[in-house]
Amino acid sequence: MAGILFLISAPSGSGKSTLVDRLRSLEKDLAFSVSYTTRPPRGAEQEAREYHFISREKFEEMIENDEFLEHADVFGNYYGTALHSLTDAFIQGKDLLLDIDVQGASQVRKRMPEGVSIFLMPPSPEDLAYRLRGRSRAEGSVDEAVISRRLAKARQEIENYRQYGYILVNDILDRAVEEMSAIVSAERLNRTPGSRTAEERRLIEIAERCRQRN
Ligand code: 5GP
Repeated sequence: MAGILFLISAPSGSGKSTLVDRLRSLEKDLAFSVSYTTRPPRGAEQEAREYHFISREKFEEMIENDEFLEHADVFGNYYGTALHSLTDAFIQGKDLLLDIDVQGASQVRKRMPEGVSIFLMPPSPEDLAYRLRGRSRAEGSVDEAVISRRLAKARQEIENYRQYGYILVNDILDRAVEEMSAIVSAERLNRTPGSRTAEERRLIEIAERCRQRN
């Protein structure tokens, strides 16, 4: 049986990475999809841990070959979830968490409407601006143009929150982690396997064929 697909989106500056890291250490049967991106590594990021860092040419080749479940252009760089992340997780009997932007989440919702989507809201506009500024500082570039572009994108993402099944406000980290865990547990208890969509069944079938071949 295939696992559950969880999607989490949050504007940058909402504290998502910390929350996702905490959740990953708590929920052992939840696989985390490592996305492909054309942006260069930041800080201590490592290949295949935070992202697979690839060239634009390679990314475009993967698009051509239909290797992505979804992909999007975020701030001029490509980001995408490979279809194999889904099949790999489900073959291992795990649920899968995708950390993707609003555009990617909307593509996934169309292909896999059974996915469980979660939007992480910053506690206030002031907090969002403060965290975005902090991140720019950590990256060593307090470029006002970059900050205002990120703020504009964050505002635009926040406008889409109603498309998500669950909305969490990240004001107290421990509570947000607990709430995320509660969503994962509730969804695990709530599955009705008979209601899978044709697309999901197709993916399960691919996964099954891959498993048999290995
Ligand atoms: P960052 O460069 O800060 O790591 O990520 C920038 C944005 O890209 C974040 O909103 C993040 O959720 C999004 N993102 C990361 N991986 C993917 C992906 O595979 N697909 C899509 N659509 N967005 C992604």
